[in-house]
Amino acid sequence: MPQDDLLFADAESNLEEAGLVIFGACYDGTCSHRKGCAAGPKAIREESYNFETFHPERGVDLVDIKIYDAGDVTGDDQVKVLLEVEERTAGALDRGCFPILVGGEHSATLGAVRAFKKKHPELFHVHIDAHLDYREEYEGNPLSHACILKRVRDLLGPGNVAAVGIRSYSREEAVRMKEDQLLVFSNEDVHYEDYLEQVKGAIKTRPVYVSLDMDAIDPAYAPGVGNPEPFGMEPVLVKELLYELHENMVGFDLMEVNPEYDNGNTAALAARLIREVIALKSL
Ligand code: MN
Ligand code: MN
Repeated sequence: MPQDDLLFADAESNLEEAGLVIFGACYDGTCSHRKGCAAGPKAIREESYNFETFHPERGVDLVDIKIYDAGDVTGDDQVKVLLEVEERTAGALDRGCFPILVGGEHSATLGAVRAFKKKHPELFHVHIDAHLDYREEYEGNPLSHACILKRVRDLLGPGNVAAVGIRSYSREEAVRMKEDQLLVFSNEDVHYEDYLEQVKGAIKTRPVYVSLDMDAIDPAYAPGVGNPEPFGMEPVLVKELLYELHENMVGFDLMEVNPEYDNGNTAALAARLIREVIALKSL
């Protein structure tokens, strides 16, 4: 159960029956600017009750979908948090469930991807973010949220990751991105129609893990994040990407919502995007 017993809306199934498993990772120990995203899962659960249970575009009612809320991974030891995220993800995959991880800082994604790599060796990773997160280490920590895409790329190997919405990286990351021939789409590239074809062309028929750092979305729509970065994506473009990828999508996470800087709308948008994924994976 979540810490205060509040479940994600319509996630009232038990583990035995569930087709989707949602859980939080309440850790923000490496956050470099505004801490507080450890409280993200709770805020997103609260805002998830804002919505109609019926999803008009998909024609499904979320009360009819078997969703299990497995509660939160907590604690201050980052290595342990990542290990527990990996174990919970592996547990969901072993049951044939679709896992949804809610952050918490972006570093927890590594735990999930480790579990996916074991289950799906040919995994492709889509990183939706304002930031490239491609540092070798940050403030001495190679597991910092500023290094997450680099760690995932180390794990999955060349040609198996794409980054979308990117508008911030260091000079060092710019050099490495070129050396590694990373497939990167900026916040402006996503307005060109062929970008989706390029992403899907790279994926081909492979299983895809989609990781959404909420700061990919413009701070006007999503102010409640740790590292707000102007000139961001419109939420509808993120939704469009999820719809385009859903058939290959085997796992999803939504990270970095920070309620301390939110007016409630970031958490509401996060909850709605999670509900889009639930509706997409229910059919
Ligand atoms: Mn970011
Ligand atoms: Mn990130």
